[in-house]
Amino acid sequence: MKNGAEHWYRLARNPALALLLDYDGTLVPTANTPEEARPSPEVLALLTELANAPGVTCAIVSGRQREALDEMLGSVAGLRLVAEHGLWRRGATSWFSTASVDMGALDELQTLLIPVVDAHPGSRIERKTGAICVHYRGVRRSRKEAFVVRVTALLEEWLRTHPEYELLDVIEAVETRPRGVNKGGAVAWIRERAEPDVRCIMVGNDVTDEDMFAAVGTGDDGILVGPGYRRQTAARWHLEDPAALHTFLRWILAVRIDETVQDESGLPSPMALASLPRQPCIEPAPEGRGPSLLAISNRLPHLRDPSCPAPNRKQNVGGLVSALAPVIAERDGLWLGWSGNTIPGDQASAVSRDREASPPLAWIDLPAVWHEQYYNGFCNRALWPLFHSFPGRIRFSDSEWNAYAMANEAFAEAACSLVRPDAAIWVHDYHVLLVASALRRRGHTGPIGLFLHIPFPGADLFEMIPWADGLLDALLEFDLLGFHTPGYVANFRSCVARMTPAQVSDDGVEHRGRTVRVAAFPLGIIPESFQEPADPSTAEEIAALFQSIGSTQLVLGVDRLDYTKGIPERLLAFERMLQLFPSWKGRVSFVQVSVPSREDVPEYAEQRQLIETAVGRINGEHGEAHWVPVRYLYRSYGRSHLAQLYRAARVGYITPLRDGMNLVAKEFVAAQAPEDPGVLLLSRFAGAAVELREALLTNPYHTEGMARDLDRALRMEAPERKARHAALLATVSRTTALTWAADFVAALEAVRSAA
Ligand code: UDP
Repeated sequence: MKNGAEHWYRLARNPALALLLDYDGTLVPTANTPEEARPSPEVLALLTELANAPGVTCAIVSGRQREALDEMLGSVAGLRLVAEHGLWRRGATSWFSTASVDMGALDELQTLLIPVVDAHPGSRIERKTGAICVHYRGVRRSRKEAFVVRVTALLEEWLRTHPEYELLDVIEAVETRPRGVNKGGAVAWIRERAEPDVRCIMVGNDVTDEDMFAAVGTGDDGILVGPGYRRQTAARWHLEDPAALHTFLRWILAVRIDETVQDESGLPSPMALASLPRQPCIEPAPEGRGPSLLAISNRLPHLRDPSCPAPNRKQNVGGLVSALAPVIAERDGLWLGWSGNTIPGDQASAVSRDREASPPLAWIDLPAVWHEQYYNGFCNRALWPLFHSFPGRIRFSDSEWNAYAMANEAFAEAACSLVRPDAAIWVHDYHVLLVASALRRRGHTGPIGLFLHIPFPGADLFEMIPWADGLLDALLEFDLLGFHTPGYVANFRSCVARMTPAQVSDDGVEHRGRTVRVAAFPLGIIPESFQEPADPSTAEEIAALFQSIGSTQLVLGVDRLDYTKGIPERLLAFERMLQLFPSWKGRVSFVQVSVPSREDVPEYAEQRQLIETAVGRINGEHGEAHWVPVRYLYRSYGRSHLAQLYRAARVGYITPLRDGMNLVAKEFVAAQAPEDPGVLLLSRFAGAAVELREALLTNPYHTEGMARDLDRALRMEAPERKARHAALLATVSRTTALTWAADFVAALEAVRSAA
């Protein structure tokens, strides 16, 4: 089926369907005066049929006054009417108002406007019950602009003392109306009155209709009517004119009545419907085509040096940059993120660029208040614990969600100014889940992919998010969704199946006439970088550490200090192991490297306290003059240091309570000497456990079980260690960071070819 016909068949045949139709310019063509824009007998007959079709609720949602709607459409039985953009609603029989209006204030405004309108022939005031609309369609072209400037200045001055009102630019008119009364409220009203599983189709042409489009749920859809539209819109579909809408509405009636209609051939079909032509939101990049691949992540690959206004090019924060740099370089690409800088106010900064960096970087500064609410707030107090299955730690707040949406809009705005609308965009992680929908609204047509670096939770957890529907809807605006493991893919698919009407197929999701590919792309490492000879500059420090642990067996933990990593549980299991198997006393040392992380978030400070208390207690209770059971290093090491620690360890003790992947596990494997390798003791709740099946898998929630597994790892004989390590090394060498990036970009570019 073409042009999303299958989507429309499903939507049109939904047992409960609501049609919310704007009037002027949507249902009837715009005329010179409102009186001339009357419904024809055919339109009245069509509305009567729709309003009385089984399962259908039909509403006209207009900016006009009650009297006008009553006069033109009052005879259509069963038709719901909404007047003055939602101020008035007509239920089964009578009208009721949704807000109180200060008539005296509007009288006063009208008095101010009369002399200006009188001086400009062709303009007129439309006094509504709750609003004043100044029309200027008839003003001579040469005087129109001056008129609009003058009227707007007058209205803005008046609004300063009347904050309960707001201005709205309508086509060829400007309206002053009560703040918060808009057509979006009508959607909620209709939804409440219809069957529980109602799905809505909103149709409009004007900016006031955007409030309806913005209220679409996952099962709903919006259609913009009008020729060659050049403005931003949240509608996903387009019809050329009111006549095309009539055809479409008749098609809805036909497919609801005739159940045998299976596809579009030979049937009245929404052929005039096409995905809304997206307008380029920027001028083409000045030098040639511009970057053909843009990576977006909250943080850039280089940390910011506070003494310098741009992100510092020298400091590298992880392996991701090594994976992405080649694919970005091959495509003359660019990486966009937050600079690390916060600024006063409530607007993100303009975008800056460093073309000489490798990879080339672009960044924005974010307002300090967003950083607190978006990053520390919604990202790390809501999404992080929820996606890692820690419901007890979740905190939701409306203002944090709003800041999250604004930050995502800011990233999308910056992206549009950097690349052409057809460039491929690769978005990273949970900070920027709304970026695809923000980009689509700005006219981006190129493929957009998301890779989620953390787990994706099951539907029971996901549904706890108060804005789960909107978030899922925004995720379905990506063309490609990549997760670490097939389990996270399955979780995502079950959320979609449970919460949306989308069709879930083997490798994707069909939604609103588009296919979203969903697949696992397990992130790997660059194994060679952990197999290189030790950097001599690190030798002294490492030698001192090895001297302090003497000839004992090294059990090594390496993590960011995060409650998901299960460090307190790991310490307890180590202590239990000493109690269950006391012969290890004096023969084993546990070194835990904890990298400082999110230190300004109270939960992380508490976690640190908890760990330090446990370390002190274990060393106090079990330590001896020549043996310190636990060495706790609250610091970060470079790659060469880490490789030496990994290689010296008899056991890699890596037991997160939940982890998207856990690269440390793979790095540990890569760094081992094949002739005498250490044992990887890995939590079964790390994403890495899916691939690293030959590791010793353990359950970090079971202290005694983990203690016994640790004892088993320490006792494992060389032949078993070697066999397990060989299999693990083969896995780690097969799927690396480089193959991961190349596979993801190839899949993203395949979306373009398929389109
Ligand atoms: N890491 C590091 N220095 C350290 C400890 C860790 O550079 O002192 C790196 C480690 O090499 C790994 C990353 O931090 O690449 C941690 O990634 P992982 O997936 O294990 O956990 P995350 O921090 O992403 O949750």
